[in-house]
Order: sequence, then C-alpha cells, then structure tokens
Amino acid sequence: MLKAICVFCASSSKVDPIYLEASRELADVCVTYGIHALYGGGAVGLMGAFANRMLECNGKITGIIPHFMRELEWAHTDVTEMVFVDDMRERKKRLIENVDAVVALPGGIGTLEELLEVSTLKQLGKFDKPIVIVNTNGFYNTLLSFINELIDKQFMHSHNRSMWTLVSTPSELIHVVTDSAMWDASLINKGAS
Ligand code: AMP
Repeated sequence: MLKAICVFCASSSKVDPIYLEASRELADVCVTYGIHALYGGGAVGLMGAFANRMLECNGKITGIIPHFMRELEWAHTDVTEMVFVDDMRERKKRLIENVDAVVALPGGIGTLEELLEVSTLKQLGKFDKPIVIVNTNGFYNTLLSFINELIDKQFMHSHNRSMWTLVSTPSELIHVVTDSAMWDASLINKGAS
C-alpha cells in the first residue's frame, strides 16, 4: 500500500502550464488516496504548485530543505511540517528514507540529479521501491532514449530498465505502483555485463 511518496520536480515557474497542472494532479492523487507526500520544500515552480494544492486540500505534506535555502527565503512558508537539514546530501537521504515510492515529475537539472541518484542506488541494491517517472507531454523521452543507448552500448544492463515505471499522467500512479514488480536487488552483480 502506498502510504508515503517522495516527489521530485521543477523549481521553475516559467514552464508550460501543462507541467504545473501535472504537479497539481499528483497532489490530487495524494489527497484522494491519503498519501503523505515528502518533497523538497520549495515555494515556486512545480514544487510550489504541488504544495499549494496539497495545502488547499488538507493533504499531508512534509518539506525537507537545507538551511541555506531557508536563508534565501526559498522554503514554502505555509507548509507547517518543514524539516531543515544541513545540506543537499542529507535532504536527498531524508527524502527517500521511509517512502513507498519515488515519483519524478518534469524538472530541471536538480530533478534529474535526484532521479538519477535514486536510480543509481536502486541499481546498487540500496533502494528497492518503485521509481515512477511522470512523462507529461513526453518530457522524459529524450532521457529514456539516451538510457536505451546506454543499454545498446552495454554501459548498462538491460535488466535495469525495469527499475523505472513510466506513466503519462499522475492518475496512473496508484495502479502502476500496485502492479510494479518487486525489485530484485540480487541482480546487482550483473553490472553492465
Ligand atoms: P530543478 O529541477 O533544477 O528545478 O531543481 C529542483 C531542485 O532544485 C529542488 O529539489 C531543490 O533542490 C532545488 N531548488 C532549486 N531552486 C529552488 C528554489 N527556488 N526553491 C527550492 N528548491 C530549489
């Protein structure tokens, strides 16, 4: 059962509204199914749109943000459950610690880094929960095709492709997470071979 998820998403507000809407849709899914959302604690972009919708609907949301971002006044001031941490490393660790799935919405380089780090941990058997990529408007197609290239060129084992679950809209989240195969960390030794 999906009790808590970690949400990675953009801090930019300048993006096409379709992406901001996808983050609100994800908040609606969390509220409908009573899922506790952990996110990066920001007030702007997809992060802000997600948090605002969660707050409007009385959803359970926790922000995890480094002190330096609080000093820059980047932390969402209406999210009452805000955890302040020393640095980005601790934030990423805390964000994925006790969740049942990670969900990546569209984002910039920060989101990509978060998505790739948790994927690396999964490849190494240090994280075994579903990683759901919300491919709004085909946003992640380029990354996915590059990953296919890594597999074709044998930089990555084809088995590892199955560590991601792809959805077109957040509404598919509940079904795919229920259906998603258990991650077999014993395949860690496969490496790229
Ligand atoms: P990006 O996908 O590059 O927009 O990065 C999203 C991530 O960048 C977040 O998880 C934060 O680590 C960080 N970040 C960048 N700008 C902000 C901001 N204005 N407020 C909060 N977090 C931010």
